[in-house]
Amino acid sequence: MVKETGYYDILGVSPNCSDSDLKRAYRKLALKYHPDKNPSEGEKFKQISQAYEVLSNPEKRKIYDAGGEDAIKEGGGSGHGFSSPMDIFDMFFGMGGGGGRRERRGKDVVHQLGVTLEELYNGATRKLALQKNVICDKCEGRGGKQGAVENCPTCRGTGMYTRVQQLGPGMVQQIQSMCPECQGQGERINAKDRCKACQGKKVVRERKVLEVHIDKGMKDGQKITFSGEGDQVPGLEPGDIIIVLDEKEHEQFKRSGRDLITRLDLTLTEALCGFQKTINTLDHRILVITSIPGEVIKHEAVKCILSEGMPEYRNPFEKGRLIIQFVVNFPARIDPSIVAQLEELLPPRTESMIPDNAEEVALIDLDPQQEARRHQHKQVYEEDDDHMHHRGGGVQCQTH
Ligand SMILES: [Zn+2]
Ligand SMILES: [Zn+2]
Repeated sequence: MVKETGYYDILGVSPNCSDSDLKRAYRKLALKYHPDKNPSEGEKFKQISQAYEVLSNPEKRKIYDAGGEDAIKEGGGSGHGFSSPMDIFDMFFGMGGGGGRRERRGKDVVHQLGVTLEELYNGATRKLALQKNVICDKCEGRGGKQGAVENCPTCRGTGMYTRVQQLGPGMVQQIQSMCPECQGQGERINAKDRCKACQGKKVVRERKVLEVHIDKGMKDGQKITFSGEGDQVPGLEPGDIIIVLDEKEHEQFKRSGRDLITRLDLTLTEALCGFQKTINTLDHRILVITSIPGEVIKHEAVKCILSEGMPEYRNPFEKGRLIIQFVVNFPARIDPSIVAQLEELLPPRTESMIPDNAEEVALIDLDPQQEARRHQHKQVYEEDDDHMHHRGGGVQCQTH
């Protein structure tokens, strides 16, 4: 039992979620609410980051589960406060990471690309159109005519603006902020000399179409990097564009590592007397499976087909297994007049001895899902359920 679920709720996961559930939830939300894409959602981005920072650390998660947010904020010695949401984000997507070379580089940009299981199975090429800044070729990134650029007179080329604030008698405070005149650029171009193509911004927005090659066997969360395709900034090496694959749910197959899992419905007759069934594969082949008469498939039995799972990344001729979970659908009722006939054909029943003092009681249907909901909301009865009144028990029942 956890004390509170706030951090789990922010990430949309349950308190018993695995580490990979957590990563997946963070990845999706962080990309969605990243300030580059959603500038007005800074607070949300911060919350996601803090929740992930706590829950992804086993030590902190334990503290949170036991004592909630207050326990985390008390911190217990070291580990006060949170890292910056941007640092968490960059670390997660493997960007930044110090080094002199990085200083001279522009920002990396992360995009999410939704892909189907078919695409990951068969491989695919997707075109992704995006907007990026490129150096203006009219002015070659100067922003104006040669010689038109001059130091900003307000900040004298420093890009910073220093204001002196009087705090009290003999006490002053210097406040530094970005120069409002040149937006921290340290230079300025007279309006009439500005490059017409980029309005003096030195870069222009350009539509760029990337061809993303999805290889067989790639997986959810996998990154594809386009080196140097990030926004161009004068004087800096451009950063990368990083495409993060987001596997969409498939209606028939669920992926589990290299295996695929599917459910197959059987009637009771098929389960007892044998069957032939087809399965359509992700590359549009048709497999036929046969259960010979005499073989019984139990409800929830699991069988597998070798080499019909997902291809291995970079070794696509190796495939995982296709795991089949059987669901046997029992008939809701059978005609009482055939029961005796049926019983003669089925294996004999086990005799059970009933002592004289045994008490005869009634069996009532119970819906486990409804039970779970009832416990959650701590409701005792639901008024509109008329089955309750004449049975009078504390258990909610259904007739079917
Ligand atoms: Zn220009
Ligand atoms: Zn300035």
